[in-house]
Amino acid sequence: MMRSTNKAAATWVLRAIAVALALGGPSLAADQRAPGLWDLAKAKSGIHRFSTLFTAQQVRDHLSTEGGIDATIDWCRKTAVTKVYIEVFRSGYQARRESLQHAKERFQAAGFAVSGCVTTTDVGRRSTGWKTISCYTDKATQERLQQVFEYAAGLFDEVMIDDFWFTDCQCPQCDAARQAKTVTVGGRTYPVAGDAWEDYRCELMVRLSQQRLLAAARRVNPKVRLIIKYPQWYDQFHERGYEVLRETADFDRIWVGTETRDYRDQRWGGTPQYEAYFITRWLGRIGGAKCGGGWYDPYGTTEHTYLEQARQTVLGGARESMLFCYGSLLKDTGPKNIETLRRNIPELLQVAEEVGRRRIVGVAAYKPANSHPEKEPRVFDFVGMLGLPLAPCHEFPADAPAAFFSVHALKDPDLPAKLTRFIASGKPVLVTDGLAGQLAGKVRLGSANVQILPVKSSPKSLLELPQTDLDGLRAKLLAPLGRSFKAPARVALYLFGDGSWVIENFNDGPVAVELDGKPRQVTPRGWVVRWK
Ligand SMILES: [Zn+2]
Repeated sequence: MMRSTNKAAATWVLRAIAVALALGGPSLAADQRAPGLWDLAKAKSGIHRFSTLFTAQQVRDHLSTEGGIDATIDWCRKTAVTKVYIEVFRSGYQARRESLQHAKERFQAAGFAVSGCVTTTDVGRRSTGWKTISCYTDKATQERLQQVFEYAAGLFDEVMIDDFWFTDCQCPQCDAARQAKTVTVGGRTYPVAGDAWEDYRCELMVRLSQQRLLAAARRVNPKVRLIIKYPQWYDQFHERGYEVLRETADFDRIWVGTETRDYRDQRWGGTPQYEAYFITRWLGRIGGAKCGGGWYDPYGTTEHTYLEQARQTVLGGARESMLFCYGSLLKDTGPKNIETLRRNIPELLQVAEEVGRRRIVGVAAYKPANSHPEKEPRVFDFVGMLGLPLAPCHEFPADAPAAFFSVHALKDPDLPAKLTRFIASGKPVLVTDGLAGQLAGKVRLGSANVQILPVKSSPKSLLELPQTDLDGLRAKLLAPLGRSFKAPARVALYLFGDGSWVIENFNDGPVAVELDGKPRQVTPRGWVVRWK
């Protein structure tokens, strides 16, 4: 009864907003829309939630006066934000206890969910690599790290860790420990499987997480839940010590970086939009119920790419969209992005609700944990831009109706036998030219159901493939799914188990596509969604 009443209310609010937007369009003042958006956001928060973060410095600059807090609450309400992360530590600066405590109480009283955050930059001794990263082999740095997490756990029951929780240090002390194949944390020593940097760093970060973060924080606050936020750069996780299987098992929740930004941006570019979907689905499969949400920011974005980040996060099945961060959203491209986002929030929430009820189907895309990209970095992101609906996975997809394999799959020691069996089943297979080269003499790839994808050691070159080639690839790969799709590059297709679908056009011009024989037009940077 309660649920259906809420749903009816939410549907009503949604419709009212849609009507208001249709009538008023962009000229409707933000504050007139605000109460409706906030009510909608509250009603839908169990399905999908928008949140934002105040960095430790922003706690000092925006949350240390009543007027400052009032302004942030007003902004959040207008942006459908119902949860805030109030950061405790970043770049060597620790926010004051009184400010954190007071801001937390004010937000809670205003009806917000409130959590903390820690960003592990400038914690202690400097890494020899990235200048804000620390050397965690250093004992004093480990101790300072622990103090920060104890402080955070004393203030909040949930603490996010921004995606600087890694190390790239190669100092003599780190190098000696790497060669000795031992990690020392809190007086205890642990063996390391190999002597590569990735072996040492993964073991170091896993053990530090267990002892200096999780155990230490829980001693201070037994209720505390720590969230590890994985960066967007999934192909390098293991190189810097992000070990997605063990860390996901150890932490209470996981979060996903979906900051794809503008592909052509000089500073931030090079990541195609589909990446956010791929990583959210891939980590979602690994994390299951632990997977809390996505996280994107306004850096190097236009309002088009900002909205695409939002769409990808929702399509990926995330249950929360973290808008990093309040201070950055007030300047540069932030305000324009947020204005666009606000207009689209009713639709995004509706799509999140539909996505949440369905399972995705498609071409299995196999990336084992800690796998090496070699000359095919992030190839999945580009393959997804070719209108191939991917179903990302970290275990061999023996039961998939169709599958895509790249050099990443070589991490699986049994790949030749498994792939031979898969090919023998007659199901369609797409293999990169790089993987095909490495499997020569081990797996017979001459069958009619195997297609070779010409990556040529340049995944981005796939975006230049002509439509006739792409239509040919899809014709075979989608056949067992009972679908057909014709489209140029930079158009993505998402399929669901009940026949529902989404087509998203990342091109700056309109595209003519054909799904299951039916022609359709998709507007520039637009999407079409159909729910069964
Ligand atoms: Zn070091």
